Amino acid sequence: MKKLAKIRVVVSQAMLLFLITTLSCSTLNPKDIETDKVVKIYIQELIDGSNGTVTWEDINQNVFIKIEKFEENTKAVGRCHYQPIFIKKITLNKDWWNNRYVTQHERFQVIAHELGHCFLNRPHTQPTDKEDVSSPSAYLENQAFKNGLITKIPDLPDGCEGSIMHPYTLSDYCIVTHYTYYMDELFGRIKFYTPTKKEPQWILKHY
Ligand SMILES: [Zn+2]
Repeated sequence: MKKLAKIRVVVSQAMLLFLITTLSCSTLNPKDIETDKVVKIYIQELIDGSNGTVTWEDINQNVFIKIEKFEENTKAVGRCHYQPIFIKKITLNKDWWNNRYVTQHERFQVIAHELGHCFLNRPHTQPTDKEDVSSPSAYLENQAFKNGLITKIPDLPDGCEGSIMHPYTLSDYCIVTHYTYYMDELFGRIKFYTPTKKEPQWILKHY
């Protein structure tokens, strides 16, 4: 009896310690979840592009963005760390971000893309190439495409990707030429482009 009681005490102490550790871990320092300053101008551009759909308050309550070192030789330039219930974290690949050949348009589109995942809950609009499927979530997403659970968004008539949620980065040409279309598509203001057999000229103009 005594022994058992002692075990109980030890167990309850262990539980308490576990709880304290868990609680202290979940108490985040506001500084840790503050979006990096250099990213803010791009978020502002996205807020402007949302035409009032998204505000700074919405962003701050749901997601924060940090520029961090990624593992060597990764192709990933940004990641949305999806955490249900908790505030979501987006990380941007530090080496990529600081590369002088990376353009402002590229930085903007990656932030818009990751916010599309983390803030708008959007999946990719095309499957990720087999050789790049490294995470379980990308694998599951590809399976969902196979089974028709996620709709593919086709390319635009000029060959540009049909959405900023395409799994690979878009060229500056595409971002600049179709900026309004990409913002409208991202925020669900228009139905995405559907190709028809005969393209009327106005479609090319509009997109
Ligand atoms: Zn993505």
